[in-house]
Amino acid sequence: MEAFVSNYLSILGSSALLTVLFFCLEGARPAESGQPFAKWLRNVAYLPFILAWILALQLVITPAAAALLRVTGGGLLPRFIGAPRTLVGEVLFFLGFALTWDVWQYWVHRWQHTSPLLWRTHALHHAESALNATAQARHHPTNYVLFAVLYTPMLLVFGGLGPHPVGAFVLFRVWGFVNHANLRVGFGRATRLIAGPQWHRIHHSTRKEHADRNFAAYFPFIDAVFGTYYEPKADEYPPTGATVERMAVRVGFEPTLPFRVKRFSRPS
Ligand SMILES: [Zn+2]
Ligand SMILES: [Zn+2]
Repeated sequence: MEAFVSNYLSILGSSALLTVLFFCLEGARPAESGQPFAKWLRNVAYLPFILAWILALQLVITPAAAALLRVTGGGLLPRFIGAPRTLVGEVLFFLGFALTWDVWQYWVHRWQHTSPLLWRTHALHHAESALNATAQARHHPTNYVLFAVLYTPMLLVFGGLGPHPVGAFVLFRVWGFVNHANLRVGFGRATRLIAGPQWHRIHHSTRKEHADRNFAAYFPFIDAVFGTYYEPKADEYPPTGATVERMAVRVGFEPTLPFRVKRFSRPS
């Protein structure tokens, strides 16, 4: 219990610091000015609950994953290659892990958009009409259950191996803030290489030409490979939210949300 509380406080603390940092950055160069403060506050108020949920879920996932690895022999990579031992090995492992994770995440995410049932786990995230860094944790609890269950193939490849804690922090804490930041910042020639605020904003756009585009979390070229890549024009910062076609009812933070979103149709 003590470990749970200290883990929770450290994750909550780092998230709070990042929230404040990005709030200041967004104020300096916003993609969209005049976002309602109440919406920002609502996402911030949701943060302690969703972080507690993620950690509680891990209490179930960790022993289940350990049991699965015992049965299957510990994962392919640890069995045949082992953990990286040099700095170069660590960097290569980090890149390999990030790329594999993003390809896997791409397909789970894309499935959430194409399946009416799975869309219900993702609708809350897209219902944000004033996109900013606080949306990084604006996910329904069922979204994390889905990702945990579908993580099994990744587990069988990587076993207990994961990136260095610094790399994991960048991938799983910082980059969500970067992607959702309300920042007028494009990555220019690196747009196809690394995901950022302008590129992910297209994914949240209400415009038809942007629908079901840019699913990757870190590497936009994954979308290019699978035919869903959209390169924003230099000054393209569209309005965000979910189109009426996708939302049958108003979407809030209610736990019953997945059971209330009745239907959605793909925008033509
Ligand atoms: Zn999405
Ligand atoms: Zn997003």
